Amino acid sequence: MLDILFPKVCPSCETAALNSENLCGLCFSDIRFVNNWSFCRKCGVPFGFFNSEHEDYIEQAEESDDHLCGKCVQGKFCFEKARSIAIYDGKIREMIVSFKYEGKLSKGDVLVDILITNFPNDLDNFDCVVPVPLHIVKLRQREYNQSAILANELAKYAGVNCDLFGLRRVRETRPQIEISSEGERRSNVKGAFSVTDDHKFKGKSVLLVDDVFTTGSTSDECSKMLLNSGAYKVQVITLTRAKRM
Ligand SMILES: [Zn+2]
Ligand SMILES: [Zn+2]
Repeated sequence: MLDILFPKVCPSCETAALNSENLCGLCFSDIRFVNNWSFCRKCGVPFGFFNSEHEDYIEQAEESDDHLCGKCVQGKFCFEKARSIAIYDGKIREMIVSFKYEGKLSKGDVLVDILITNFPNDLDNFDCVVPVPLHIVKLRQREYNQSAILANELAKYAGVNCDLFGLRRVRETRPQIEISSEGERRSNVKGAFSVTDDHKFKGKSVLLVDDVFTTGSTSDECSKMLLNSGAYKVQVITLTRAKRM
């Protein structure tokens, strides 16, 4: 009844009426899902070629689905697999920014929904879900960790435990998205994380959750800590993937 008197508006643009996707048609059509491309079987980077002029991917379906990207051929990542739902751009990027930095928790609901509805079916089973942690200083400023909210809801959906405190950020880092060189990104996060209890992840298959995958340095560094503490396997799911690699 309330919905008829006060029709729900799209949480992205806050003007148009909702359609069945929890966004209005226009905002929904703005989201570019990674599975529209063929992508690296390991790190999940979309293969459609990168257009440097527009700094963007061009949608291009490829025949083969079995490729590894250059980085994965060189064995640069220690996680088992990484997958992302959408490209970090347009409406979904705006929603993440307001969820993360403007305290708009309401955007979290629709982001959780996008993550769960489009959860990739080629990830292996996992025993627990772990968010990429924020440093305590940032957590105090923002009052919540956006990745922890995504991880918590995803764990509920998957029926597994969410470990909010198993992984800790022991050093403050710059946002990876602000750094252009990959070497700098690696050193920015090196040694920035630690596992709080050495027995917690022993023999476990862990799913690591974050909002944006940039070059994978953060995910890889967290994975390394989890594997060092005895995790059997780490897979990564991020809601989005940055366009610039
Ligand atoms: Zn909208
Ligand atoms: Zn790859």
